[in-house]
Amino acid sequence: MQGIATVRAAPPGDDTADDATFLADVRAFLDAALTPELRAAGRRTLGVHADMAACRIWHSRLHARGWIAPAWPVEWGGTGWSARRRFLFDRECALNDAPLLFATGLRSLGPLLIECGTPAQRARYLPAMLSGEDMWCQGFSEPGAGSDLANIVTRARRDGDDYIIDGTKIWTTGAHLANRMFAIVRTANGARPQHGLTFLLIDLDTPGITIAPIIDLAGEHEVNQVFFDGVRVPAGNRVGAEDKGWAIAKRLMQLARANNSPSALVRRILHRGAQALRALDDEDATLLARLAQLQIELEAFAQVEQDALPSGRPRAHDDATPSMLKLIGSELHQKVAAFALDVAGPTAMAARHGSDEDGGGAHAMAKYLTVRAATIYSGTSETHRNVIARWML
Ligand SMILES: Cc1cc2nc3c(=O)[nH]c(=O)nc-3n(C[C@H](O)[C@H](O)[C@H](O)COP(=O)(O)OP(=O)(O)OC[C@H]3O[C@@H](n4cnc5c(N)ncnc54)[C@H](O)[C@@H]3O)c2cc1C
Repeated sequence: MQGIATVRAAPPGDDTADDATFLADVRAFLDAALTPELRAAGRRTLGVHADMAACRIWHSRLHARGWIAPAWPVEWGGTGWSARRRFLFDRECALNDAPLLFATGLRSLGPLLIECGTPAQRARYLPAMLSGEDMWCQGFSEPGAGSDLANIVTRARRDGDDYIIDGTKIWTTGAHLANRMFAIVRTANGARPQHGLTFLLIDLDTPGITIAPIIDLAGEHEVNQVFFDGVRVPAGNRVGAEDKGWAIAKRLMQLARANNSPSALVRRILHRGAQALRALDDEDATLLARLAQLQIELEAFAQVEQDALPSGRPRAHDDATPSMLKLIGSELHQKVAAFALDVAGPTAMAARHGSDEDGGGAHAMAKYLTVRAATIYSGTSETHRNVIARWML
């Protein structure tokens, strides 16, 4: 099809000469390190990470290059890049189909331990997170505690130098792939539900833990329910003080949002949708107009994302910026997935996801279904609207 030259758009604002050197370096690395197999795994991805074999290879290549933790300070093995550099890197990875990493630990727990962990916790956990030896999942939500997270009832009672945990966590992304979990558990009943919560680091090989799969709308296994039956965790694995885990969990969520790039996730799907549109025999003016509109919205969103966190270290006080970014980013994510599905048209129903001959149509359908969850995880759109409205009032 004529008319769609490229969606390798310039980032908001002109690249400075410095940016141009940086970009040339990133592109040279991606050209050399991304094999056709890794790019194919990147394109096949439905959820928040690629298949684990590709994740592990890509993780080790980034680690060897020193680029596995773009947001961490240099002294802890990070790159020390500015928010703009991280944006440029994420954008190039998206446009080159680099596999999405299984990076819950790198994005959230690592920065938290750098800020609030003990020296022993940092020495034990940070190197293994960087190398990929340890993969972490997040155990916050429970069957009765999601939007109202402080209502958690999974209990931990002190027994000598250990805590003993009983209860369950749900919707735990990648618990079946991770070897460790960070979690908040109830150690006391306080005057407010936020009181009496404690933040623990749990080895998933500990006896008493059972992980049960939950299959999503697209037929994929990404989330789980995790059961704890008398699970012993050393008290040295507590982050922060006993009963004060709510503040630690809130800080972790702030750091996680700062170290994530929703615009890069959206860019991946829009890039793929544009490629599919270019391959159509007939030009469709409505789809072209939607592509243009979505590209504008994406670049505007990407600019806001960079401006919100120029230093990469979010402020500790509450404001509505993280909620605005989550809300706009996840709703744009869904709009772009719907666009890619419309480009695919009836082929979306015709082939099995993952088969080479599907031309991307079945993938667009599976992606559309998977991305329905984007307005639920990390806080639902309704709860983020509540935060924004209350902040304005
Ligand atoms: C794919 C996926 C991956 C996830 N991964 C993880 C993970 O790795 N770790 C983890 O801990 N959790 C994870 N979650 C859980 C996620 O954080 C929760 O699902 C989310 O916070 C919503 O909680 P809930 O499911 O209990 O829904 P509820 O809180 O019961 O909400 C149900 C509905 O009511 C609405 N609602 C609730 N309260 C209000 C209110 N005050 N005002 C207006 N509307 C309201 C909600 O918006 C929603 O539409 C994941 C969820 C999904 C879908």
